[in-house]
Amino acid sequence: MDPNCIFCKIVAGEIPSTAVYQDEKTYAFADLEPQAPNHFLVVPREHLVDITELADHPDLAAAVVAAVSNVATQEGLEHFRTVLNTGAESGQSVFHVHAHVLSGRRMTWPPG
Ligand code: 5GP
Ligand code: ZN
Repeated sequence: MDPNCIFCKIVAGEIPSTAVYQDEKTYAFADLEPQAPNHFLVVPREHLVDITELADHPDLAAAVVAAVSNVATQEGLEHFRTVLNTGAESGQSVFHVHAHVLSGRRMTWPPG
């Protein structure tokens, strides 16, 4: 755990969140500022900065992908967009890797 990381604190229960799914390796919760009617974040419990670090842990990478799918099934999301921002210029603002799961409205392409 990184003591300065808000998502580590959320995983530890030190910052409240609305859980939607959890398992041994992952935790999924509602985004504080939803950008769609459904907007969830899926994180590995372990502190990894971004997808490049997640790639060094294939078991956790697979667990995050499975958790995204489980969230979608559980929440009945037929169509959803999954986003992993990497680096500040991409839009990453929390440096604990997380998959956004957005659904409930028509998505546009290309993304902004
Ligand atoms: P990023 O910009 O890094 O791709 O995504 C970070 C996301 O975390 C944003 O969508 C933001 O709304 C969300 N977020 C930031 N702080 C908190 C928090 O304390 N609780 C929850 N539930 N979401 C947060
Ligand atoms: Zn963290």
